[in-house]
Amino acid sequence: MFRKILYPTDFSASAEEALEYVKKLKEAGTEEVILLHVYDERDVDVQWEVEAQIHPEEPLEKSRHDVLKRMLENGFDRLKELEKEITHFSFKTELIVEVGIPYQKIIQAADNLHVSLIVMGSHGEHGFVEKLFGSTTGRVLAHGNVPVLVVKPKNHPNSSTH
Ligand code: ATP
Ligand code: MN
Repeated sequence: MFRKILYPTDFSASAEEALEYVKKLKEAGTEEVILLHVYDERDVDVQWEVEAQIHPEEPLEKSRHDVLKRMLENGFDRLKELEKEITHFSFKTELIVEVGIPYQKIIQAADNLHVSLIVMGSHGEHGFVEKLFGSTTGRVLAHGNVPVLVVKPKNHPNSSTH
């Protein structure tokens, strides 16, 4: 039923908790897991400006290219670390690093790769836990076309005590 899963991560602790559910879905017949990280294109521009100020002698296009290259390599390395955590379950895996608006890239990947389920955290690296869920998750739920398993972090302050 959930043969192919998309696991989008911002490398936050909340997203990491969602990975536990990816493992559990092995029993539900999951065979393939796509790990996706999206660099927010707005953050890339901020980094680029910092870089340009540190090295004013370098042409702007080169510094943008360097910043992007470094970010993509770093994202790939971090996804590889996460992939190691699930090797034991012998899923077929695919690692994807993109630059863009996170929720849009998540929805596009889900559609283009024909996934049957998205597994993601309710919260991420930026948000306030007081919110019901973060904006990336909210937008994926609002605009996406496949079922989403939203994983709430353990010890969430809004949890009921009974
Ligand atoms: P906000 O970004 O709205 O301030 P937040 O960071 O707490 O709040 P979200 O961004 O919605 O919450 O993160 C929820 C989940 O969405 C994460 O656990 C992760 O699974 C996914 N996600 C968030 N950002 C990205 C990203 N850049 N690339 C891939 N997945 C992401
Ligand atoms: Mn976020």
